[in-house]
Amino acid sequence: STSSSEKINVSKNEGAGETEEPEISAAELSLMKKILRSKLIKSTNDVEVQRNDPNSPLYSVKSFEELNLNPNLLKGVYAMGFNSPSKIQETALPTLLADPPQNMIAQSQSGTGKTAAFVLASLSRVDSSKSFPQVIILSPTYELALQTGSVAKQMAKYCDDIKFRFAVRGEEISKGEKITEQVIVGTPGKVMDWALRYRFFDIQKIRVFVLDEADVMIATQGHHDQSIRVHKQLSKDCQMMLFSATYDQEVMDFAEIIVSNPVIIRLRKEEESLDNIKQFYVVCKNMDEKFSALSNIYGVISIGQAIVFCHTRRTASWLSEKLTKEGHAVALLSGDLQVDQRLAVLNRFRDGKEKVLITTNVCARGIDIDQVTVVVNFDLPIDQAGRADCETYLHRIGRTGRFGKVGLAINMVDGPRTLALLKQIADHFGRNILKLDAEDVDEIE
Ligand code: ADP
Repeated sequence: STSSSEKINVSKNEGAGETEEPEISAAELSLMKKILRSKLIKSTNDVEVQRNDPNSPLYSVKSFEELNLNPNLLKGVYAMGFNSPSKIQETALPTLLADPPQNMIAQSQSGTGKTAAFVLASLSRVDSSKSFPQVIILSPTYELALQTGSVAKQMAKYCDDIKFRFAVRGEEISKGEKITEQVIVGTPGKVMDWALRYRFFDIQKIRVFVLDEADVMIATQGHHDQSIRVHKQLSKDCQMMLFSATYDQEVMDFAEIIVSNPVIIRLRKEEESLDNIKQFYVVCKNMDEKFSALSNIYGVISIGQAIVFCHTRRTASWLSEKLTKEGHAVALLSGDLQVDQRLAVLNRFRDGKEKVLITTNVCARGIDIDQVTVVVNFDLPIDQAGRADCETYLHRIGRTGRFGKVGLAINMVDGPRTLALLKQIADHFGRNILKLDAEDVDEIE
């Protein structure tokens, strides 16, 4: 294997093209967020509502009881540990459950309860005495479809008569067979084939059509057109629901094709802030000293979990090897991993099997760190031009909303150049970043 000194050179040469990681797709980033998150993201913002007929009443509920759900479905909701509806659910659910059915476009950041909302609403519309598909839920990828399907199955835990069928790669049906399950969860291409090409079910009998992750859908090759082709064959009175984490013209243009006369609801993303974050820096001479400092910190920090950001994949794997050799249990997440490997790493970290996750910038975009207490910038975030990347710094360190736990950020500085970068960051946010003695990290607790 290569010597560590060689790797140090690579890291000094920050931003070098050869060390850049492959881009991770929008679908994969979205999946990573889902896997890593174990809790609802709360919001202090208000839901904004837009509808054509401003006189039509709009209800909002504060409890699941008020929705008059099927008791077995309600039981499933409580069994999932949901006590009350999330912000977006308070407004979305009464409208989605109302009769006659109304179409909806809903946008809020990931983690705010959209999936739970459309799963609950669509399961409520299933007539389980009938054995044919009544609900289609479209997801952008195989993994996202399975993820949504597993939420739906959990919620339908006490509804024995509701059955699910995955329309994803690897699932085959023999010619002439008819699907008897009431809920189909799948990807656009496969659903299109099953519905239009092979006619494994009667698409005209679909009562609820859900398009999840519309923004990821249009970012994925072919999905836009396939979704529209499926949609075209649906009956006029099928209820259409479209969900998206982001809201821009492209998403709205797509949404307007799929969802006619919608109620549009939005929950604006809460700004990330550095309130409640204690920020420090440690001065080190080189990468080995950075490693020692990190190792000391690791020994001291007993609270919660940490994420360590490195600039390149090589630094990340070097660091992970060294920490592992010292007997620490660390997880390494980098862009070269296969999707399933990446998920395995995230699952283990979420379950607390490792306390430290070492990662690179590319992966960082798929990580919401609200449950992580310590963030270490082994390398400071810089942009292409080598300037301090304040936005990335905020995304790594910051928390959304007033609900975020108190956090700790530690920056490794290895010379005047990085110290200057850190000063730019401190000035940009108007906050002090305090110097920490590498040998004496006790003072941070
Ligand atoms: P989104 O689809 O917007 O990303 P999810 O529906 O996946 O959000 O919800 C995010 C997390 O919050 C999940 O872990 C989910 O189980 C949980 N959750 C959803 N709704 C509630 C609720 N009403 N109460 C508590 N937790 C919830």
